[in-house]
Amino acid sequence: MTDAFKTDSRQMLGRLREVMAEEATGQTRLDRITQLIASEMHTEVCSIYLFRDAETLELCATEGLKAEAVHQTRMKLGEGLVGRVARTGTVMNTADAPREHGFRYMPETGEEIYSSFAGIPVQRLGEKLGVLVVQSKTARQYSEDEIYALEVVAMVLAEMTELGAFIGEGAALSARHKNPVGFRGLSAQEGTAEGHVWLHEPRVVITNPIADDPQRETERLREAVESLRVSVDQMLQSVQQGDAEQREILEAYRMFANSRGWMKRMEEDVGRGLSAEAAVEKEQSTARARMGMATDAYLRDRLHDLDDLSNRLLRILTGQGKETGAELPADPILVARNIGPAELLDYGRSLRGIVLEEGSVGSHAAIVARSLAIPLVIHAERITTEALNGDHIIVDGDNGVAHLRPEDTVLAAFRDKIAMKEEAQERYASIRDKPAVTLCGKTIALTMNAGLMADLPSLQGSGAEGVGLFRTELQFLIRNKMPTRTELAALYSRVLDSAHGKRVVFRTLDIGSDKVLSYMKPTDEPNPALGWRAIRVGLDKPGVMRMQLQALIRAAAGRPLTVMFPFVAQYEEYKAARAEVDKAMDRERILGHPLPATLEVGAMLETPSLAFAPDKFFRDVDFLSIGGNDLKQFFFAADRENERVRRRYDTLNVSFLTFLEGIVKRCEATGTPLSFCGEDAGRPIEAICLTAMGLKALSMRPASIGPVKSLLMRTDLDALRGVIETARNEGNQSVRPAVMEWLKTQP
Ligand code: PEP
Ligand code: MG
Repeated sequence: MTDAFKTDSRQMLGRLREVMAEEATGQTRLDRITQLIASEMHTEVCSIYLFRDAETLELCATEGLKAEAVHQTRMKLGEGLVGRVARTGTVMNTADAPREHGFRYMPETGEEIYSSFAGIPVQRLGEKLGVLVVQSKTARQYSEDEIYALEVVAMVLAEMTELGAFIGEGAALSARHKNPVGFRGLSAQEGTAEGHVWLHEPRVVITNPIADDPQRETERLREAVESLRVSVDQMLQSVQQGDAEQREILEAYRMFANSRGWMKRMEEDVGRGLSAEAAVEKEQSTARARMGMATDAYLRDRLHDLDDLSNRLLRILTGQGKETGAELPADPILVARNIGPAELLDYGRSLRGIVLEEGSVGSHAAIVARSLAIPLVIHAERITTEALNGDHIIVDGDNGVAHLRPEDTVLAAFRDKIAMKEEAQERYASIRDKPAVTLCGKTIALTMNAGLMADLPSLQGSGAEGVGLFRTELQFLIRNKMPTRTELAALYSRVLDSAHGKRVVFRTLDIGSDKVLSYMKPTDEPNPALGWRAIRVGLDKPGVMRMQLQALIRAAAGRPLTVMFPFVAQYEEYKAARAEVDKAMDRERILGHPLPATLEVGAMLETPSLAFAPDKFFRDVDFLSIGGNDLKQFFFAADRENERVRRRYDTLNVSFLTFLEGIVKRCEATGTPLSFCGEDAGRPIEAICLTAMGLKALSMRPASIGPVKSLLMRTDLDALRGVIETARNEGNQSVRPAVMEWLKTQP
């Protein structure tokens, strides 16, 4: 790059800065910018197109095209060369525009056939805002330096667009951050909530994208990077010795913080007239764009690191910490790109709801949200860009929908729904202390699923008879290092204390598949759900399992203890696990520690193979619990985490119910206590059908106990059984339609 160009670029940015500083309406500013670029770049046309809505671009200012076309010419995303630049988010630079694929001649603009065309996307941190275009008659390819200068201008434009500098008469983005916006995502935890937005990471606002003193800006940049390096070093020092995984992450951070290439690119941008903040953000935008395209998980993670590092640097430069002065509203709905389980636990039950741009149903954050019973919507695309702190928002976790700044009609309908739910809750409270006795006189045991200390208060409030499934892995998942035996023993002891003598079924560590511990070496299996998980890990690496069993025995100390092994696929696995329990008991006995008053050891039936295990297995186990979530995914060969196939097979499918019935019969024949603890147990229709098939114990989320009990108390299971039999005999695929029809006839 020649020095002469550098000066030009800086000069252009300097003029741009003057235009921005002038008292003028948004439109006048846009007009001046197009004039300025056209004259500085010696090109006939310069135009700015901005998004009117997510799909439509509008010509908002031009130098060279007909003035009447401004705010009249529109095009769809992907339409013509401008639309193509907008869609791909990449620069187009051609000396022969008419020959380019997608070229569209627009006579209304008075456009002659311009040969050269350069289109630069106007975007901020991956968010598309518009396109900046230059055109000229002479067939020439714009030089790399010219394109660079235009990119810088586009970035400044993006920054200004964000700040609302163009808001005004007819400008495309005037409605931004004011209009209601609906988000259709996915439900990761049911429930509804109304409240106000709390951004987990408020966006850093850059008020000065252009700087007039590059030397000073360079110094500011260097100082900020230096203090970033120091803080990363400090973090590294404070990481505990054995914490290899965390060290590795921070080492990657340090590598980026010391990266010469990164620094050089930012310094070059500053040299061309950008402020230090804008230079950092430009790099960040590039990283985000690459992140969106990266298919390699490792590369994506590293780009995430770089993104995070850029945020830190921006906070240092702008002095905008997490503490932006905003106060947590009384009814906070957390809005974030993504969030870790530990961070979520920090907020705890103060949150009314959560909306994430990323995340997955099986993510740790989702597990924690479920455990705290906070409605959670994931995959709400772009919500962090649309939402501002304090915005009114409603979250419908039942349908995976969020409404930002909702309209009155939406709000009214939503409030009606909440009122109906509250009424139902009152009904459930009135039956809380009654047993679940059906109309035909059968008593069904209803217990709750739990995984955190925070769940235990629900034992009282929900009317659950005990904890039918305590998922011990949550304690492992929310930490960044392996908990110690002492820590676990103390925790399990507190769980038993809070249960006040009610039975708690502790399931041993169920990791692998979707539950990955950050401090364990990733195994990178092609099919993790069918891979090295749960009891398979426990038996292959018995150290952790032994430690956990000891902690459980010590926690029980004279109280009854119930242990359950997950994902047992064959009798031998159960035998080996049971032998570990016996060994642990012997060891504790020898050490003179008090032993549990009683000990029950059971298995989860989550693989079809176990349903066909020898009778001796059924007699050997103290109890069995059907893990319906896993069992169903293997029965139908449909991944429970895959949205495409997850809902394809109905739990009330005749084959599945018949299969469950077979398990019930085997357990009856062998006298094996049986329960069902998958998500389906908490769905009222599914629950009554499961009990009609002979299940007498169900374990579910605490919030489901009321609705399930209420329906059970109104159901004649013998009659329902008849309905199911008839539907089955008629060859129906699912009994659901018949059951729903029948329910309508019931009082
Ligand atoms: C199940 O698979 O049904 C179950 C209860 O276990 P998890 O959902 O924790 O895999
Ligand atoms: Mg399971």
